[in-house]
Amino acid sequence: MAVLNVSNIQRFSTGDGPGIRTTVFLKGCNLRCPWCHNPENISAKPETLVFAAAGKTVTYGKLMTPLEVADDVSEDADFYNAGGGGVTVSGGEPMLQYEGVAELAAILKERGISTLVDTAGCVPWRNFEVVLGSVNAFYYDIKAGSREKYASVTGGDFDLIVSNLKKLVACGANVTARIPFIPGVNTSDGELRLILSTLLEAGVKHADLIPFHRLGSAKYKAMGREYVFAKTSPPAAEEVARAGEMLGKYIETGIE
Ligand code: SF4
Repeated sequence: MAVLNVSNIQRFSTGDGPGIRTTVFLKGCNLRCPWCHNPENISAKPETLVFAAAGKTVTYGKLMTPLEVADDVSEDADFYNAGGGGVTVSGGEPMLQYEGVAELAAILKERGISTLVDTAGCVPWRNFEVVLGSVNAFYYDIKAGSREKYASVTGGDFDLIVSNLKKLVACGANVTARIPFIPGVNTSDGELRLILSTLLEAGVKHADLIPFHRLGSAKYKAMGREYVFAKTSPPAAEEVARAGEMLGKYIETGIE
């Protein structure tokens, strides 16, 4: 049996999929987005964060079997069933731990609980093939609209994420694109047009705009790390609405 490197299990989470959900955050990511609001999930190693202002320390990173995770999250099954909810596996990059994710989703499926995987997609296609039979839906991040921009802001491989996205859609997976709307990175009309054309070419039917926020800044402080976006203001509501309107002419668009 595979082992999952679990950072945190968050009950009654919002913004991680439909209905009432539990989000399982996995530790370890192969991208380096400088606005990341879960910096504690980037390294795969256990880390202890010291929240001095709140007078507490929290250690992230615990190895659990998929069965242990499934038993933990199944406690709230009644809530999931009541409103189309379920379990979201996020990170970090959960698709780096695809074998454990596949096992977890298979156990949950047997128990009548659906699983959504929130991924940036920068992994070999084979990883997706392993989870496809048990995972119900995917949130798929598109952070930039060109090879150069994607590499410069995330360190990742744009061609790979686009190829995986096309394959996922082509094989009938339930995919929602997620566009983190990050000032100075991808909020210009030109960048949004490139992202939009990528989504349309891949056959994606729905995209959500996720406006930048600074909710992760306390974690950077607790890690003793510089937060490059510490002084960046969230985009104005009008700017987000305008981007949503522009995308909405071509693709079903939601704003979170
Ligand atoms: S892919 Fe997600 S978890 Fe990884 S660095 Fe980017 S924002 Fe953070």
